[in-house]
Amino acid sequence: MKVSPILENAMLMCKGMSGAIAQSAVWSRRRMRGIEEELEKIRRNGLWRKLTPYRHMGGRHEEVMQQFASNDYLGLANHPSISEAFQEGLSIHGHGATASRLICGTNPAHLLLEESLAERKGTARALTFSSGYAAAMGTIPALLSPSDFILVDKLSHACLIDAAKLSRATLRVFPHNHMGKLRKLLESIRAQHGSKPRILIVTESVFSMDGDLAPLHEIVALKNLHDAWLLVDEAHGFGVFGEQGGGLAEELGLQQDIELQMGTLSKAAGLAGGFIAGSSALIDLLINRARSFIYSTAPPPALAHAALRSVELMGGAEGRELRKRLQKNVSLLRDVPASSKNTPIFPLILGSNESAMEASSRLADAGFIVPAIRYPTVPRNTARLRISVSAAHQESSVHALRDQLKQLASR
Ligand SMILES: *Cc1c(COP(=O)(O)O)cnc(C)c1O
Repeated sequence: MKVSPILENAMLMCKGMSGAIAQSAVWSRRRMRGIEEELEKIRRNGLWRKLTPYRHMGGRHEEVMQQFASNDYLGLANHPSISEAFQEGLSIHGHGATASRLICGTNPAHLLLEESLAERKGTARALTFSSGYAAAMGTIPALLSPSDFILVDKLSHACLIDAAKLSRATLRVFPHNHMGKLRKLLESIRAQHGSKPRILIVTESVFSMDGDLAPLHEIVALKNLHDAWLLVDEAHGFGVFGEQGGGLAEELGLQQDIELQMGTLSKAAGLAGGFIAGSSALIDLLINRARSFIYSTAPPPALAHAALRSVELMGGAEGRELRKRLQKNVSLLRDVPASSKNTPIFPLILGSNESAMEASSRLADAGFIVPAIRYPTVPRNTARLRISVSAAHQESSVHALRDQLKQLASR
C-alpha cells in the first residue's frame, strides 16, 4: 500500500511513541517493584502501620472497648459546650477561611483565640497555625539561619527535629534531660563562636512517649547563663498542668522565662491547630517569616471559635475540676509496671516490636485499646505500650485496665 509521506511520517512517530510508552511502562513497573520491596522490608521488621477504622476500635464513645490511646486528656473532644461553640462558629463565620490570613484579612475569631491563648500563657501575644506540626515547621526556620545553633533533647517530637533540619542551623542533639551535656554544648559553642550566633534550646515539657518532665528550672538557668533562647513544646502539658491549664511552665512559674511556648489545640483542647506564644516582636517576626503560616490557608474560623471556648473552659472552674479528675485517674495506675511521673502518659517498655504488638493485641482481646509504639516514633529496641489516661475515663475502667496490665506483667 502506498501512503503519503505525511502519513508515513506520522506512522513512524506513532511507532516511536509506542516504543517510548512501552519503555516507560517497564520503568514504572520497576519503580513499583522498588516500592513493594520497601513495604516488604517494613513488614519484615515488624514496623507495619495501617489505618484501622474507628468502628473496629470501639467507636467514639467507648461503646465497645475501653480506649487508652488518645491525647484527649480532659475529655473535651466530645464536650457538648465545645460542640455547641463549633456549631455557633459555623453559623457566624461559615466553614472555609478561603485564603491565608495575610491575603483575605484576618477573621476576628482567630484574633480572639490568640488573645485568650496569650493570656493563658502569660505572654504579650500568640499566633495560631493549622497544626502543632506546622507551628514548629514555621517557627524554628523563621528564627534561625545557617550560622546559628539548635540544641534539641534526644526524645523531642519529630516535628521539632524536622523543623531544626529545615532551618539549616547546626543541629546538636543532647541525651534526654541531660543537663551536663547541655551545659557542655552551650559552653563549647560560645567558646568557639563567640556571642554572635543565636542558640535555640528545644525541649518538650511532658515527653509524649515517656510521660516524664523536662527539668525546666535548670534549662532556664542554663539558657540565661549562656544567652540562649528556649522553645518548650507543651503539646502534652497544655490543659494538663497549671492552675489555669497553661501547662508545665505555668505550674512552675516559668512563663516569663521562656521565649517560645509552643502548644497544640489537638490534644487536651480537643480540636485541632497549633500555636506559639511569646513576645510581641517575636510574633511579628513569625507573621513575616513563618512560611507554614504565610503560605497556608487559615484554619476554619468556626474551629477558632470553638477553640476559644475550649481554652476558656480549660482555664476556669470546670477545667480545674477535670484536671482533678484526671489526676485521680492517673493515681489509680500508680502501681502498674509502666512508669510515670504523675503525668497521664504511662510507657510500658517491652523492647522488641513483636512483644509490644503482641501485648497490644492481648489487651485488645480483653477489650482495651492501648497502642504499641515502635521505631521510629521511639528509639530502636524500646518498643512499648503507651497508655494514656483521661479525665473522661470511669474509675472502674481504669481499675480494670490496671488488672490487665498486672496480668500482662506477670506472664
Ligand atoms: C502531637 C504533637 C505535636 C504536633 O501537634 P499537632 O497539632 O498534632 O500537629 C507536636 N509536638 C508534640 C510533642 C506532639 O506530641
